[in-house]
Amino acid sequence: LAISSSSNDLYRYIRYNSNYFKSLNDLFNELKNLGFIKLLEFKYPLKEKEYFLDNHLNDFILVFNGNTNWWKGNEWYENGGIILQDKASCMPAKVLMYNWKDDEGECIDATAAPGNKTSYVSALMSNKGKLHAFERSSHRYNTLTRMLEKAHCKNVIAQRADFLESNPNSGEYKKVTRILLDPSCSGSGIVNRLDYLLEDEVEESDLKTERLEKLASFQLQMILHAFKFPSAKRIVYSTCSIHAEEDERVVYSALQSKIAKDKGWKLAPREQVIPTWERRGRPEELGGDEEMAQGIIRCLPEDRTNGFFVSCFVRDDAVGISIK
Ligand code: SAM
Repeated sequence: LAISSSSNDLYRYIRYNSNYFKSLNDLFNELKNLGFIKLLEFKYPLKEKEYFLDNHLNDFILVFNGNTNWWKGNEWYENGGIILQDKASCMPAKVLMYNWKDDEGECIDATAAPGNKTSYVSALMSNKGKLHAFERSSHRYNTLTRMLEKAHCKNVIAQRADFLESNPNSGEYKKVTRILLDPSCSGSGIVNRLDYLLEDEVEESDLKTERLEKLASFQLQMILHAFKFPSAKRIVYSTCSIHAEEDERVVYSALQSKIAKDKGWKLAPREQVIPTWERRGRPEELGGDEEMAQGIIRCLPEDRTNGFFVSCFVRDDAVGISIK
């Protein structure tokens, strides 16, 4: 089945919120009461009352037919039991929390609003411990706090603050082992923006190049700042961009930095980064390193998601891929 960038309405992803339901079975039962049938195999297009568990994020993502807004007015939707979120945008939190044990430490979401990934990380922490969430914009910070409340996040400490101004050596963050970095980007992967971008591609303007350069330099700064946190051992860097300038090239520059080498930051191997996802990084943007590219996830509309990029840095005892 060929999927065009505008055919997002063929299906709809829904994220189960374990901060609300006690178990996935409780949600299945609610859906059964609404007349939904859970399929055991993947099937597109889905009929109106059919759904199945996603094959990559099967503990949290359910796939529905995209033609109805059946959840509207539903009590457990209105109360944060489910969250409408693109599958690709769920991947960073899932990769970040690989092998997480509730007593491991604390987490940071460095760029949190509107909070979709924050609330997923919160759920993956079993709503326990501490998740520090930063948001620089005051307007977006207000959205974030509303979202966290609706999603029943009890373990998030949200602050309206610039992550780059945080002090990695402050006692407040000494237990932080994992950091999510999903910074501002060009947004070129967002499906309804793709058609426009493809048309635009013809005239590769200086303006676009300049904008991408600025974004890339900011994104790199964010990663280098995250590298400084003394107990950090896993950092996920993601964008909703399809441009290598904001994706692999930023990752490659980060790995070449002095701090990465001093602190032993490497790229996580494929087996820790949703290995069953087929579309991986572009080796030609990573000094030709195929192994490094395998540690990266890319998503495109033909994968039935938005365009997206997910990478993961690890260090210390973690098995990782070093820059050659
Ligand atoms: N992770 C979010 C989600 O899934 O809902 C989306 C994050 S959005 C791509 C990036 C956010 O980072 C924006 O809200 C932006 O205001 C914020 N931001 C950008 N630079 C920041 C900084 N230096 N410190 C904290 N927040 C920042």
